[in-house]
Amino acid sequence: MNRISCIFVYSFLLCLGTTLVGQIRTAADKQRIMALIRNLSNHANDPSALLDPQIVGEKRANALKYIGDKPFELSITPTKDIENRPDGTAVLPARVRFKNPTDELDSDAELHFVRRGDNWYFANFDFLGWPAILIVVVIVMPLLGLFYAVGTLVVLNRLRNDGRLWGANLLKVFIPAYWPSLYRERATLAVQIDLLKEVDSGNLDNLQCPQCRHRALSTWFTNPGPEAYRTWLVCAECDFWCHSINSAKPSSFSESRVRSDLQEKDTAILRALRTRKE
Ligand SMILES: [Zn+2]
Repeated sequence: MNRISCIFVYSFLLCLGTTLVGQIRTAADKQRIMALIRNLSNHANDPSALLDPQIVGEKRANALKYIGDKPFELSITPTKDIENRPDGTAVLPARVRFKNPTDELDSDAELHFVRRGDNWYFANFDFLGWPAILIVVVIVMPLLGLFYAVGTLVVLNRLRNDGRLWGANLLKVFIPAYWPSLYRERATLAVQIDLLKEVDSGNLDNLQCPQCRHRALSTWFTNPGPEAYRTWLVCAECDFWCHSINSAKPSSFSESRVRSDLQEKDTAILRALRTRKE
């Protein structure tokens, strides 16, 4: 064997040796880390004894706050292989189920470990802290649910009281995007009912317009059929108008308040309705 071949074989054996030693060491590290997890889960060791001894003072107290002195149940199921890092740390993705008298957690987390000499320790117990996403799910979602339930009930109740709980409103009441418009409609309806009450009591002019706020609303009537009466409120300042179908002749009805253009409109509508029925 010439000299070059010797160097090649020697290098190859060295590489193989280093790799094998590396692999054996990695396997031993993994075993130690898994033993660490078992010792924490089955209470074989005090959590403090398994935490990195280089974490001291307030930082140590904080690190132990989830798991310190309260009794707990813990189950850690690895979801991937342990990743050993060149800086003497290791990371293990796992499913963590934790329960103590005040907190309960069931979440995916990353466990961090650190090597000190020949021993491995937990680098922290952060995996027992609630991840932000879980806080959103556990705390914010029920609040949103509560807001939705209360909102739906309030709108539902109002629509029922207004006699508007039918048709499309039956669906809209469950969609928060429609809530403001359902409220506005209710307000408009309530204002219109108040206006018609005023008309009933004989106040026919200078009523306040719900749109432009001017006292420019006047009352008009139509009599499109023998027993058909309609009341109109028309604003002189803006384009607001509203219209109600009377079940009997309005108490304030007079021929002088019948506006011919509105009368034509109502007559045409009534005729169209009758034609459709026939
Ligand atoms: Zn107006």
